Amino acid sequence: MNDNIMRVSDAVCTGCSACMNVCPYDAIRMQYNEEGFLMPFVEETKCVNCGKCTQKCPALHMRHKNRKFPTVFAAMANDDIRSESSSGGMFTLLAEKILDQGGLVCGAAFDDHFRLSHVLIDSKADLEPLKKSKYAQSNIDYVYREIRDALDKGQKVLFTGTPCQIAGARAAIGYGYRHFYAIDILCHGVPSEIVFRKYIEEVSVQHTGQKSALKNIQFRNKDFGWNCNTIFLEFEGCDRPYVNSASGGDMFEYTYHHCLSLRKSCGECKFAVYPRQGDISIGDF
Ligand SMILES: Cc1cc2nc3c(=O)[nH]c(=O)nc-3n(C[C@H](O)[C@H](O)[C@H](O)COP(=O)(O)OP(=O)(O)OC[C@H]3O[C@@H](n4cnc5c(N)ncnc54)[C@H](O)[C@@H]3O)c2cc1C
Repeated sequence: MNDNIMRVSDAVCTGCSACMNVCPYDAIRMQYNEEGFLMPFVEETKCVNCGKCTQKCPALHMRHKNRKFPTVFAAMANDDIRSESSSGGMFTLLAEKILDQGGLVCGAAFDDHFRLSHVLIDSKADLEPLKKSKYAQSNIDYVYREIRDALDKGQKVLFTGTPCQIAGARAAIGYGYRHFYAIDILCHGVPSEIVFRKYIEEVSVQHTGQKSALKNIQFRNKDFGWNCNTIFLEFEGCDRPYVNSASGGDMFEYTYHHCLSLRKSCGECKFAVYPRQGDISIGDF
């Protein structure tokens, strides 16, 4: 293990990136470890040992502000919104509400290279990439700082993510902002980025006969039923999509749902409990 790593083990660290966002000297960057999970690495030449990273780490210093027994609702959006969502479409309804009020929404979206990261949007026209579950760990980068800047300007912000990311956001941004709204998703865990990349490469060779670039990926595509663990892939130069599921032998879906490719800290997640981290939690029903 690299000696420069922040003193939090991979069994504890969730990769929430609060440490990187709060470091006053920009001495921390998130990098993939040898198993494909984002971990904080400290640049010794920049670090002055102020200790802010460990003080703010939500995995080391757990905080919560919610009641132990939240009110529970069953709700769903209309057919159009649900067909564009992995579950009942509540995320879209809540996000549209905030955007209608001139606020910002932050959630997980793939870039052109299918790297997942959290992005901040201010328009309904940009909402589509944030919709639907992506079974990958989203890279937070410096988005907590962007959110704090927006809140300081008086804007409303809705942040959505895994419970550990909500804890990270609150730790980095602070608990005092009235216009900061957080939604956590019920979370099974996040898989290794290395496993995901290797899987895409192997399927592309098996399915197209060569290493082909991925051009579309969908988890839980509702064309195959709303509650199936399917994966849908399209590759450049191939007009036949690859569709498979955990029960059909797809190795990514199988290892993910059987908890074989998950981050160590997900196995004993401190945040997937009551009281929840988010103001609202959304899940399958
Ligand atoms: C990795 C993962 C594991 C999940 N495990 C469970 C589970 O065990 N049980 C359960 O009931 N529900 C689980 N869900 C949540 C559920 O499947 C729906 O995503 C959720 O209920 C929201 O549904 P929706 O239709 O309202 O919105 P959708 O449009 O389906 O979801 C969009 C929201 O999900 C967020 N999101 C998508 N992918 C990620 C990601 N990788 N990291 C952080 N945020 C992400 C987006 O930012 C946006 O807020 C999981 C979701 C993910 C991403």
